[in-house]
Amino acid sequence: MEKKLTDTFGRVHNYLRISLTDNCNFRCFYCMPEEEYDFAPASRLMQASEINTISKLFVAQGVEKIRLTGGEPLVRKDAAEIILSLSELPVKLTMTTNGSRIHEYLSVLKEAGIRSLNISLDTLNREKFLLVTRRDQFQRVYDNIHLLLNEGFHVKVNMVVMKGMNDMEINDFVEWTKHEPVHVRFIEFMPFSGNRWTSNKVVTLDHILQEVGNKYPIERLQGEPNETAKKFVVPGHAGTFAVISTMSANFCGSCNRIRLTADGKLKNCLFSQHETDLLTALRSRQDILPLIMDNIKAKAKEYGGQFHQDFENIHPEDIHNRSMITIGG
Ligand code: SAM
Ligand code: SF4
Repeated sequence: MEKKLTDTFGRVHNYLRISLTDNCNFRCFYCMPEEEYDFAPASRLMQASEINTISKLFVAQGVEKIRLTGGEPLVRKDAAEIILSLSELPVKLTMTTNGSRIHEYLSVLKEAGIRSLNISLDTLNREKFLLVTRRDQFQRVYDNIHLLLNEGFHVKVNMVVMKGMNDMEINDFVEWTKHEPVHVRFIEFMPFSGNRWTSNKVVTLDHILQEVGNKYPIERLQGEPNETAKKFVVPGHAGTFAVISTMSANFCGSCNRIRLTADGKLKNCLFSQHETDLLTALRSRQDILPLIMDNIKAKAKEYGGQFHQDFENIHPEDIHNRSMITIGG
């Protein structure tokens, strides 16, 4: 297929991440703003049919993979309808979820042909889970991960590593991969509006590898093209681990992602300040394709043009962005 969504750095965008809602049943402190936060009213969100229309347009422009995210995608009332309608498109459909509602959606996920899911779990400790998410749902999420494993899904577990919070659990997560085919992904803590980020809370790729390497032998695994995760295995373990080193060793040079927020704004980078309002344009019957093209052409080389890889020098108050929950991770 012709590579249509190409930016000025020659990066081809074939991976669309769609946020279904900015609402969530958890309250992870690193994702939500600290102040009181009002979720967007349903009328401001893309409706199921609008998501379908916009997705089809992207697919016609070469998008091959769609990830549903949020907020928590499965708190949206019409999530099943959206999942099933997108599953008709010729794309690899997947989702990032906090795992709390998987048991209610298992048959929908199967019917949609979804075989791989990312589940967020930052700790293996129930009290700490409550501290991070402000919800006492550790067992539910943990059980749902096992439900998926038993059903043969490929499960990636996202763990945002934060110094002093859960970095002492890195090897507990690696130990988990010994007998179970879970694919743990350690994510470097990223700065967003109001999320209590400071550079000294970032646990880097180098640090994680050192920590794991002190206890286990490690082998690097070959990644897929455009992969954000650097993958590793402890020989003999059933699962693997990976590091998403956004802050200390970025992968902007091979970025193929573009994001649609739940209120229909196109963001060409997690950190981009610039947004294009596709939903309003669609509702006023404008041709949105030129808007999409302009947005992609405006993509900055790295980090939305807001900072560089020397993350120790970032002042979070200088970054202008939404909070993660309103972008869609
Ligand atoms: N609610 C779903 C979930 O938690 O998986 C999907 C949305 S969530 C915003 C997507 C991913 O972004 C999660 O894995 C979450 O841990 C990650 N995330 C949120 N804030 C982050 C931050 N400040 N730094 C790194 N990752 C973050
Ligand atoms: Fe909700 Fe996911 Fe954000 Fe946690 S990380 S508050 S589960 S959207």
